[in-house]
Amino acid sequence: MSASAHTLFISDLHLTADRPDISQQFLSFIQDSAPRAEALYILGDLFEIWLGDDAMTPTHGIILNAIKSISDRGISVYFMRGNRDFLIGDEFAKACGCEILNDPSVINLYGTPTLLTHGDLLCTDDTDYQAFRAYIRDPKTIKQLMALSIEERIAKGREYRAGSQAANKEKPMDIMDVNQDAVLAMLREHNVEHMIMGHTHRPNEHSFELEGKPAHRIVLGDWHEQGSQVYADASGCELQELVRRV
Ligand code: MN
Repeated sequence: MSASAHTLFISDLHLTADRPDISQQFLSFIQDSAPRAEALYILGDLFEIWLGDDAMTPTHGIILNAIKSISDRGISVYFMRGNRDFLIGDEFAKACGCEILNDPSVINLYGTPTLLTHGDLLCTDDTDYQAFRAYIRDPKTIKQLMALSIEERIAKGREYRAGSQAANKEKPMDIMDVNQDAVLAMLREHNVEHMIMGHTHRPNEHSFELEGKPAHRIVLGDWHEQGSQVYADASGCELQELVRRV
């Protein structure tokens, strides 16, 4: 069976030393599925936390080398930062042979202009989170964080996560999903009708109308219980579950 030219999208693996099963599934994905694609897009939160390119561990090295191996074989690899791995920088990109994309970005997906976003920008009902995001993603803040020692960054990360976990407990579930007006506004601003995103861990395909035209938003799932990918070719996009065999 020869698969036609296709592109894969993944996000929200949240790779961490505590979950070697997820890393193993990702490494199998990179070895078996990814090489058959012509391009792979990683739409953020590949890692549970990224403390900076200067804090890479040998475990990270295994992941990055795997990605580099498919990039070396001619597969285009693109990475968009998520809210967990926003400190990923040029050294990471070099080590895995990927190109870093801005959030959002619009690509031409087999003739269909498609907007890619991690997705947290669309959760506008969560005003506390958006304020925190604006602060933490400010280049000045990032510069300050990177000037800290790795130990200090670990402590900061713990502090931020404890704060967000405590706040999230008080929030109704809907607040942490996307705001549909924000979805429409982002699509309108970029003049597209198709979107692929991650972040919310609510895998689904949503259909709606935008200026009288059919519009679609595909949400990738996380890799906590199984994997998730979007398979795209000239005939369209499909959201697929990836069974974990380990
Ligand atoms: Mn996220």
